[in-house]
Amino acid sequence: MKQDNTSNTSSPERRMLTFTLHLLGRFLIFFAILLLIGLALQDKMNESLNHEVEKFNLQQGELRASVYNRQLTNEINELSRTAMLISAEKITPANGVQSISGQGQLGGLLDINGQSLLGVSLPKEARLQCARTLQGDPSWRYYKDLGLVVMVPVYEGNNVRHILCKLYTATGLQERTSPFQFTDQQENEKLLLYDLNTQRVVVPFEDYKNSSFYDAAKDSPLGLDQLLSKLEHSQETAIFDPALNNDYVIYAAYIPNTSFVVIGYRQWRSVLTGISNIHLIVLWVFGLLVVLFCVFILYAFTNQVAAEESSALREARDEALRANQAKSDFLANMSHEIRTPLNAILGMNEMIMREASGNLKKYAFNVKSAGETLLSIINDILDFSKIESGKMEIVPVSYSLSSVLNDVYNMVSYKAGEKGLAFHMNVDANIPDALHGDEVRLRQVVVNILNNAVKYTPKGSVTFTVKAHSYQSGSVELEFITQDTGIGIREEDKEKLFAKFQRLDIEKNRNIEGTGLGLAITVRLTEMMQGNITVDSIYGEGSTFTIRLPQTVEKNEPIGDFNARIEAALQEEAHYQKSFTAPNAHILVVDDNDMNLTVVESLLEQTRINIHTASSGKECLQLIQDNHYDIVFLDHMMPEMDGLETLSRAKKLITSKCQDTPFIALTANAVAGVKEMFLAKGFNDYLSKPVDGKTIERMVQKYLPPEKICLADAGTTEAIPAPAPETVAPATVEEQIDLPTAMKYCGNNEEMQKKFLSMFVSRRGSVSQQLENDLQTGNIEDYTTHVHALKSTALSIGGIKLSECAKALEMAGHAYIEVPENEKDSQLAYIQSHHPEALALYQRLSQEAKERFGLE
Ligand code: ADP
Repeated sequence: MKQDNTSNTSSPERRMLTFTLHLLGRFLIFFAILLLIGLALQDKMNESLNHEVEKFNLQQGELRASVYNRQLTNEINELSRTAMLISAEKITPANGVQSISGQGQLGGLLDINGQSLLGVSLPKEARLQCARTLQGDPSWRYYKDLGLVVMVPVYEGNNVRHILCKLYTATGLQERTSPFQFTDQQENEKLLLYDLNTQRVVVPFEDYKNSSFYDAAKDSPLGLDQLLSKLEHSQETAIFDPALNNDYVIYAAYIPNTSFVVIGYRQWRSVLTGISNIHLIVLWVFGLLVVLFCVFILYAFTNQVAAEESSALREARDEALRANQAKSDFLANMSHEIRTPLNAILGMNEMIMREASGNLKKYAFNVKSAGETLLSIINDILDFSKIESGKMEIVPVSYSLSSVLNDVYNMVSYKAGEKGLAFHMNVDANIPDALHGDEVRLRQVVVNILNNAVKYTPKGSVTFTVKAHSYQSGSVELEFITQDTGIGIREEDKEKLFAKFQRLDIEKNRNIEGTGLGLAITVRLTEMMQGNITVDSIYGEGSTFTIRLPQTVEKNEPIGDFNARIEAALQEEAHYQKSFTAPNAHILVVDDNDMNLTVVESLLEQTRINIHTASSGKECLQLIQDNHYDIVFLDHMMPEMDGLETLSRAKKLITSKCQDTPFIALTANAVAGVKEMFLAKGFNDYLSKPVDGKTIERMVQKYLPPEKICLADAGTTEAIPAPAPETVAPATVEEQIDLPTAMKYCGNNEEMQKKFLSMFVSRRGSVSQQLENDLQTGNIEDYTTHVHALKSTALSIGGIKLSECAKALEMAGHAYIEVPENEKDSQLAYIQSHHPEALALYQRLSQEAKERFGLE
C-alpha cells in the first residue's frame, strides 16, 4: 500500500522524465537524418560540381586544340607561299630555303625521292611523308629526337618537281620562341602537345620534367593513360580525379588531322570560383536550415514540455482538490460526531460547576474553558473547510444591528474585563437599525477581530467604532473599526496576516492560544459578503483593523443612542439573574443520546420543571398523544426518524395534545444558515449544542406560559446580587485585583471572596519560599506543579496578571520537561528571568489586599 502511494506520487515526475527522454531521442534521430541528408547532398553537390568542371575543361581542350591547329595551318600556309614563289621562279630555291630557316627551324629542298638538294637532310623514314607530299598535299610528322617536319610540294607546271620542307628541331620546339609554344595560356594552367605516334611530348611547358604533372615512372604526362582511354570514344576529354591530383583538372583534345593531342592541367578552383561560391552559399543555407530546424525542435520541445508540465500540474491540482474535498468532507462529517460528545462533556461539567465548591469547582471551570476553546477551534476548522470546499453560503436575513452589537458588546466586554482592559464602543447614532444581510457571519467577523484585539493586547484598551458610509438607494456601507493598544504587527508580517494557519511573532505570542485560522476565515467571509478588510499597525504600539461591509437597509429608522440600549440590556440581564421555578410546567426532551438527555435534565433541575425524555422520534410521537407539553426540545440527527420528520409528523397528528406547543430544535449542527432552515421547517426556535445552563433557562423562560413561571424574590433568590460598587474602594491604575473575576469565582458571595483573598495573602510567604527552593535546587518539575497551583488560586481571587505570569511560567516549565537536553537552556532562562516578576506581583497583590479590603 505504501509502495503504491509512493509510485502514485512520483508518477507525474517519472512520466515527465520518460516524456523528456522520448522527445530527446526523437530529436536526436531527426538530427542524425538531417546530417545524413546534408552529407549526401554535399556528395551530390561535389559530384555535380566535378561534372561541371569536367564539362568546362572539355571545351577548354577543344579551344586549345583549335589554337594549335590554326598555328600549324599558319606554318603550312607560309611554307606553301614560299613553294609557290619558287615554282613561279620569283625566288631561287636557295633563297626560298634561306627564308624559311631560323632559330630551331631548318629549311630544305628535297627531290622527289626525298634526297636533300638544299639545306636540311632527313632520315630515311621521312620518305613515306615525301611520298604523301608528292600527291600534292602538305604533310607534317614528328620524328623522335629530330623534331617536327612539315613538307609542301613545289610545282613545275602541273607536276610536282621538288619538296620544300621545314624541320622544327626537338630542342627548338621547347624554346619560348617556338611558334608552337602557347603564349596565351593562363596562370594556373599548364599546356603541352603530345604526339601519339612517337609517344613523345612534342611541346612541353616550361620546367615540365620538374613539375608535379610529369609522371617520371612512365616518362609521360600525368594522367595520360586515363586520358587516352577516354579519348578512344571522343575527340576531347577531361578528368578530375583526386587520386591523381586533388587541385587540378586534366583535359585533352585531338588536333584534327594530326597525331597530336593537346594536354592541359588547370586548377580546379580557378575554374570554379563562381560555382564554388554557389556551393558555399548552398552549404550556408543548408547550415542555416539545420539551425532553424534545431530552434524549431527546441521550441516544440519546450512547448511540449510546458504542455506536459501543465497537464501534470492539472493532474496534481485535481488530485489536491480531491484530497482537499475528502478532507473537507471528513471534517464536515466529524462535526456532528465531535460536537455531540463535547456537548455531553460541557453539559456534565456545568452540573459539576453548580454543585461543586473549592478546588473541584476550579477544576471544572478549567474543563469548561478548555472545552470552549476546543469547541471554537472545531468551529473554526469546520468553517474553514466549508469555505475551502465552496460549501459556505452567505444567507441574508432581516436583522437588527443593535441586537448584533449588543451580543458583540456582551462577548467582548466580558473578555476585556477579564484581562483588565478598557473596552470602549462608539456607535454612530444615525446608522439604520433594520438591515438585511448575513447577521451570523457579520457577527462572526466582527467578534473575531475584537477577540484578537483583546487577545493581543496585554494592557490598555480596545476601542470599537461603528460608522456608516455612502447611503445609496436603500443600501449602506458599514465600517467597523477596531483599535487596540496591543503588541502590534511588524511591517513584514502584514502580508502573512490573512494566510491560513499563519501565526506571527511566535516568540511574543508563545502564551497566547490560537490556530492562525481566525483571520483567514474573517477575510474570506468578508469577501464573500462583498466587503473588505484593512490593517494599520505600529509594532509595539497597537493595531487598527477596519472592516467595510455593504448591507441593505430595510427601514430608515436610526439606531440611536447605543449606550442607552446597552444599559437596557444590562437591566434585562439583571432581571434574568432573578432565577425562576416552574413546578407546574411540563417539557419533553427528545434525543437519541442518553448523556444529552441527562445534561438537559440536570441543567433545568433547579427550575423544578417536570421533564419527560424520549430517545427517538417514534417515542416522541407517542408521548405527545398521551401528554400535553409546554415546550418540546427536539434533536435533529436521530436514527430512523430525524427531528425534521418527527416535527412534520407531529404537526399532522390530529390526536396530538401538543398542537400549539412550541418545538425547539436542539442540535450539534451549528453551521451557517441552519437556524433559518429550522425556522423554515416549522420549528419555533433553535439551540445549538453544547448548551449552557443560562441559555437553556433563558429559552425556557421565553416560551413557557408566563403564568407558570414563578420568579424568585430578591430575599429568597439563590442568585447573589453583585456587590454594590460603593462597598469597594475606588480602583487605582495599579490595581491588581479584578473584582468581577473574583466575584465570579466565589458565586458572587462577598464574604467568600474576602475569605479566599485572606487565605491567599496569608499563604504568600510559604508559596514564595517553595518556589524559590524549587528553582534553587533545579527541581523544575515541582516548580511547574507549584506555579500551576498559583495560576488558578491567583485567578480565583481576581489576580489576573499574576495568574497570567504563573501560567507563562508553568508553560515554560512543561516545555523544559519535554524538550531535549540541548534546548532546555532557553526555557530555564525564561523561568529564571520571569520568576522574580511573579514574586513581585504576589507581593503587590498582598499589599493591595491589605489596603483595599483591610485584610491583615
Ligand atoms: P490566532 O488563532 O493565532 O489568533 P488569527 O488568524 O486570528 O489566528 O491571527 C493570526 C495572527 O495575526 C495571530 O497569531 C497574531 O500573531 C496576529 N494578530 C491578529 N490580530 C492581532 C492584533 N490585534 N494585534 C497583533 N497581532 C495580531
